[in-house]
Amino acid sequence: MNETIEKKHERASAIIAVLQREYPGARCSLNYNNPIELLIATILSAQCTDERVNQVTEKLFRKYPTARHFAEANPPELEEDIRAAGLYHNKAKNIINCCRAIIDRFNGHVPDFLEGLIALNGVGRKTANVILGNAFGIPAIAVDTHVARLSRHLNLTAQKDPVKIEFDLMDIIPREHWTKFSHQLIYHGRKICKARTPRHGLCSLCYLCPAGQEAGCGR
Ligand code: SF4
Repeated sequence: MNETIEKKHERASAIIAVLQREYPGARCSLNYNNPIELLIATILSAQCTDERVNQVTEKLFRKYPTARHFAEANPPELEEDIRAAGLYHNKAKNIINCCRAIIDRFNGHVPDFLEGLIALNGVGRKTANVILGNAFGIPAIAVDTHVARLSRHLNLTAQKDPVKIEFDLMDIIPREHWTKFSHQLIYHGRKICKARTPRHGLCSLCYLCPAGQEAGCGR
């Protein structure tokens, strides 16, 4: 698709307007009260639904209220406590090591900058951006599978690598929309633009979406 950068920016603004109208309240669907809770919930969410994570963390955060409690946890006991979220052996190890580093290097506080976050065990760029955007209110684009897929369909990127997608989106989407835009794409990906069977005919982004147009969404 040949599109000037000006046209792409115009189309991105229109996409944002549609998403704002469709999903005005889009937000992180993990339950948390503070940065450490969001960090633990996000680590647990790997290959697990947010709904399941919320069931697990309801009890978990009562038993381990601070980073120090997680840092000093008994590994087999923590594994048992998070078993329902899957991959519990690795997740427990990451949570303990990550919280030990938070105690040792950051005085018990979750760092509020990207480099500090991605230096923690089990924290990649996506998790770091979830924390920045939601726990600290620092605009960030978290590229998960929905964000990656929809961004390609909408021709906001041609990349497959999540980091490259993030950079492409940062160029096109105004900074103040970054965090919410990720959530809105996730909502839309879950409801309409599903991975296997995108519901093009029901999609309010159809007229702005090259992939949808190609699939005949407006007909
Ligand atoms: S038109 Fe189709 S491909 Fe484009 S966003 Fe909508 S459902 Fe997804």
